[in-house]
Amino acid sequence: MKKSMLDWSEIKTVLLDMDGTLLDLHFDNQFWLEHLPKRYSEEANISLAEAKEKLVSHYHKVSGTIAWYCLDYWAQQTQLPITALKREIDHLIKLRADAHDFLTALRTSGREIILVTNAHPDSLSLKIERTQLDKYFDVLYSTHEFGVTKESQLLWQRLQKKQPFELNSTLFVDDSLPILQSANLYGIKHLLAITNPDSQQPENNISQFPAINDYSVLLEDILNNPVNL
Ligand SMILES: [Mg+2]
Repeated sequence: MKKSMLDWSEIKTVLLDMDGTLLDLHFDNQFWLEHLPKRYSEEANISLAEAKEKLVSHYHKVSGTIAWYCLDYWAQQTQLPITALKREIDHLIKLRADAHDFLTALRTSGREIILVTNAHPDSLSLKIERTQLDKYFDVLYSTHEFGVTKESQLLWQRLQKKQPFELNSTLFVDDSLPILQSANLYGIKHLLAITNPDSQQPENNISQFPAINDYSVLLEDILNNPVNL
């Protein structure tokens, strides 16, 4: 990424996604695509291939909606204790290797740092418990409290009402293209895409927004442009 693609002298508030943006998405992919199908096949007495097919087609049906992110929904649909099953592989929940220095630089430079995740509150708690991610933030939001996801314009309206931020001095970082497009439509001026959300998968190709695969390229600019309080 060219340094000029983000103007840090304008950015005072940073809204950050969690999964794939600050935490390695490998945990989530492993859980939904491997671990849950495995447990589901055992419980329903069907083959692993059949369980994967059933679950993945169900994921596609609700993708991007609040149900997709809702652990209660999946507990009801699969009749399995989703949070307990997540704990079985929670050693995979990890901060990205470059996240600590990035978050620390944002903090040092005096910026307001806000987490905005579509993750269910129980997922958020589990991830905070494993990573102590909350220590970096002024405030953390699960979009469940607003009843809609970041894909929806309503979320941004409701969030801005509860937590005022200026469109022109706010940066939003996410690994999802539809979500970045939604934030762009709402009018958030500074947008940044993460192209390598899952450390075990090939990088995504995103050309519509400034995009990086390593926060370390931003550190100098962030620290050279502190916010005057
Ligand atoms: Mg994400």
